[in-house]
Amino acid sequence: MTRSMKLKKRSRLKKGIKSTIKKENGSSHKITKYWIQRYHLFSRYDQGIELDEEGWYSVTPEVIAIKQAQRCRGKVVIDCFSGVGGNTIQFAKVCSSVVAIDIDPVKVELAMNNAMVYGVANRVDFVIGDFIQLAPSLKGDVVFLSPPWGGPMYRDVESYKLDMLQPRDGYSLFQIAQSITPNIIMFLPRNVDLAQVEELAWLSSPPLTLEIEENFVGGRMKAVTAYFSCNAV
Ligand code: ADP
Repeated sequence: MTRSMKLKKRSRLKKGIKSTIKKENGSSHKITKYWIQRYHLFSRYDQGIELDEEGWYSVTPEVIAIKQAQRCRGKVVIDCFSGVGGNTIQFAKVCSSVVAIDIDPVKVELAMNNAMVYGVANRVDFVIGDFIQLAPSLKGDVVFLSPPWGGPMYRDVESYKLDMLQPRDGYSLFQIAQSITPNIIMFLPRNVDLAQVEELAWLSSPPLTLEIEENFVGGRMKAVTAYFSCNAV
């Protein structure tokens, strides 16, 4: 095959992927990169998983979500920024119950659909609401925080600071979570400033234990998970 034939073939393939994505999600070609990784995100993708554009960027890859859930076996977990349900589903498989909160009703609908695909929807309390406002009324053994990182732009900084997290800075989110339980899991960008994360643990009263896990998918580091606890979670 000549180089120009190869290039034509490659561009036909790319166009094919883009139109499939458009058909499947009515979304832009920006998500091509994520769609290619769809089975990393949801192994049951073909069985009716649905995502919106933001969901493609922010859902936790399944292998990572499985590992995080294993640490919470048998507990009551609050998934505070549940998005399209990547973590919620894995928590529901091994935890005693899950409260899944998202401020966006579309996300909650998608998460419910996706939990049904995995046959775990009946083990989840889905809540449409603002985690910050709901916090005083929440009870659970573990709080899982996977707050907005600010979209794919988080990669553009050398050191990601906790005050870049949304809808509040990481210190405030952590403090709110602590009013529920000291067992807190934070899912953070791979370039997060680890000194700041450690500060969260030792500035707590009493100081919390902290375990940092680097999360890899397909040999690439994708994120960091911080497990805080007064004992081992
Ligand atoms: P990222 O920046 O990592 O792509 P997103 O912007 O997708 O993250 O945010 C993650 C999820 O958090 C979204 O589903 C969004 O609707 C949800 N979310 C944002 N603010 C709140 C809030 N105050 N309470 C609950 N969920 C929220």
